[in-house]
Amino acid sequence: MTWQEVRVGDKSYITLNSVKKFYQFATITRDGKNISLDQSKIKFQLKVGDQECSLNGVKFICSDPIVEKGTDVCISRLDLQKLIDPVLRPTYITGAGKFRTVILDPGHGGKDSGAVNAYGTEKNYNLYVAQLVEKYLTAKGYRVIMTRKSDVYLSLDERVNIANAVKDPAIFISIHFNAGGRAARGIETFTLSPAGVAHYGRSARDSDDVSLQGNSNDSANVALATAVHGQLRVKLGTNTRDRGIKRARYSVLTGVNHPAILLEGGFMSHAYEAQLIHNSKYLDAVARGITDAVLLYKNAVTPPSQRAIRRP
Ligand SMILES: [Zn+2]
Repeated sequence: MTWQEVRVGDKSYITLNSVKKFYQFATITRDGKNISLDQSKIKFQLKVGDQECSLNGVKFICSDPIVEKGTDVCISRLDLQKLIDPVLRPTYITGAGKFRTVILDPGHGGKDSGAVNAYGTEKNYNLYVAQLVEKYLTAKGYRVIMTRKSDVYLSLDERVNIANAVKDPAIFISIHFNAGGRAARGIETFTLSPAGVAHYGRSARDSDDVSLQGNSNDSANVALATAVHGQLRVKLGTNTRDRGIKRARYSVLTGVNHPAILLEGGFMSHAYEAQLIHNSKYLDAVARGITDAVLLYKNAVTPPSQRAIRRP
């Protein structure tokens, strides 16, 4: 069974009817511009003309809009292959479940405070969350490596070097809080753009077509982002707005040779979220979301035959 390809401009698109067949969705329904593909455990929602789609309620920002071509509705091949497929078929990501090491990267530090508001500095919130995750994951039997354990300055290259000095299979999670316009709020999770896709919100450059170190983990990056973003939504509940999983070319994502994501756990520049972030309960919810996501991700990318036997 193969994907049915159509050309839209200079891009390759795949019809949603062939997506339905390939992934064995039971139904495809359309209401105006809204389309839903459903099976017992998965709901995949898209909208014609839109770049946002959602899988079981987790929002993904596609690189290209969903389009209509004749009687077909289509998703770009790049988005299907690089964004959606790793979520729908995580056990096809070869060897991704074999890690016992988690590298945590609390953003900023030392002379680099990151975002600052009336309550505190981003570097301190990032470290606080990372230390909680370290504690929780260590208790679960993981080895945790921290790029920094105190308020020290590290360049982006130094963070990448620390991560790449880890030779065991590992995953990398960079922890940040956001700043932006006064109305901006919510959580967002970044994974490295695949070759051919620009940094979120920036126009394309020739260098975007080059495949980078981090692109060797394209599928695992998305699966990890999905787990972390999904768990944060669960743990933060109505406290948060979902800004989705996005593509970026941050240095820690381009250079690290383990599956890697960068999480923004809320906006310090937003009046309400600034107070939430300064509350240890909120930071603990972020940390528990990351922790549970690591366990869920490991399970999702491990083929059933290789999963540890679970005792009731
Ligand atoms: Zn930051």
